Amino acid sequence: MTDSSSLYAQLLEKIGEVADIRHALALLQWDQEVFMPPKGAHARGLQLATLSGLEHRLFTDVETRRLIDALRGRTDLSPEQTALVRETAHDLDRAVRIPESLVRLFAEAQSRAYEEWVEARRASDFRRFQPHLKTMVDLSREKAEYLGYAESPYDALLDEYERGMTASKLRPIFDTLAARQSVLVARIAESTHHPDASWLDQEWNEHAQIQFCEEVLRDMGYDFEAGRQDKSVHPFTTTFDVQDVRITTRVNPRDFLSALSSSVHEGGHALYEQGLPLEFRRTALADAPSLGLHESQSRLWENIIGRSHPFFRRYLPRLRELFPGQLDQVTSAEMYRAANRVAPSLIRVDADECTYNLHVILRFEIETALIEGSIRPEHVPELWNSKMRVYLGVDVPDDAHGCLQDIHWAHGSFGYFPTYALGNLYAAQLMEQVKKDLPNVWGGVERGAFAELLVWLRDRVHRHGRMKNSAEIIEAATGLPPSPEPFLRYLEEKYAVLYPV
Ligand code: ZN
Repeated sequence: MTDSSSLYAQLLEKIGEVADIRHALALLQWDQEVFMPPKGAHARGLQLATLSGLEHRLFTDVETRRLIDALRGRTDLSPEQTALVRETAHDLDRAVRIPESLVRLFAEAQSRAYEEWVEARRASDFRRFQPHLKTMVDLSREKAEYLGYAESPYDALLDEYERGMTASKLRPIFDTLAARQSVLVARIAESTHHPDASWLDQEWNEHAQIQFCEEVLRDMGYDFEAGRQDKSVHPFTTTFDVQDVRITTRVNPRDFLSALSSSVHEGGHALYEQGLPLEFRRTALADAPSLGLHESQSRLWENIIGRSHPFFRRYLPRLRELFPGQLDQVTSAEMYRAANRVAPSLIRVDADECTYNLHVILRFEIETALIEGSIRPEHVPELWNSKMRVYLGVDVPDDAHGCLQDIHWAHGSFGYFPTYALGNLYAAQLMEQVKKDLPNVWGGVERGAFAELLVWLRDRVHRHGRMKNSAEIIEAATGLPPSPEPFLRYLEEKYAVLYPV
């Protein structure tokens, strides 16, 4: 029998090569959204498809299987090594179920669907996107059949983003959120204390906005020697290595809070990536166990910290310096209230904390129905518009402000949306514990000193990578299994003060 350390070293070399290709793919995708000229799209689609196929082939060849089979069950491995073998085996089992031909077809269809979605959204014409949506739904259903599932084909897709989660587990959680949040939104609508945010409607210098975002990111602990911030239409975070984590933001010249919240959100994701176990770079362990847990980090920083009153008390003096004369009459309390205004609206990415999950629940209901085959793509706009009326009480004027607003379905990312709502829930649960463990956390925020909070998050969440799953991480960090209650408590307490009746 070959000794374990030699086999383990071979496995590391093998999966390291796969990780290199994956990170090169991520770099091409980053460039596609940040710098690539429009005419580069055709060739880029082919490059992405070729590399995706190559990555799949390299990872799923007989050698990986041989090494995994030889290492599984060995008792002389460390707990970390055992976790690495287990997680790699999980990824391999999932990957071999999908034939390479489907991986290629999917990547090509994704590129075409993305380009058409951009045009369809520009023209606000769902009919133009409809055949591409149908292709992505069909290919995703095919993928789900290969992956296998117990109850719903949607579960096979959701599992890729939130392992162990199913549509039937999500429904009661989402029902609770929808019920309690719609009561809260209705109560807020009746409040007589609506904030005056008219001061925000000014021209905010773009350079100063970016400067401010970079300063806040630095205070949070984002390492600019291991990352950079650029602009893109849709802000995102991507990782080429634990020490090369890129973020993007977008700038609205009429609303500096937009770039701020984007940067703090992506900064939260990036802090997680920069805090993953460095010794496991180029392996499955240097990754989050789920997108929901990843999103908990961005939401905690963006909403709970970055939209708190102590945060604005800290940064108002600096904002006054960066935007001379524009904020002299504005108090930190007014800024805090403006950053937390609640108004049912059309666009998910602009939604406030009280309505955000309702946007997710609507998408979850539509995409489960698409994947389960109970509705067809041509039904999407009508269904979307009627659900918007029911959940948020708003009328959708056109598809660009309705079912064409998000990139996810063009990417074939069915099962992704619920992770945003789960992120909100995990974030609030973690923060309840932070407040118990670090009684001075708000004093730190008010001084722009976030190190204590970051150390806590590194210890309880980041450093574990994929050695534990998200429910285990939440339970170990907070003493309780994941629950929607801390989030609802957080919302109800915060907004009772912001919107007294
Ligand atoms: Zn995010």
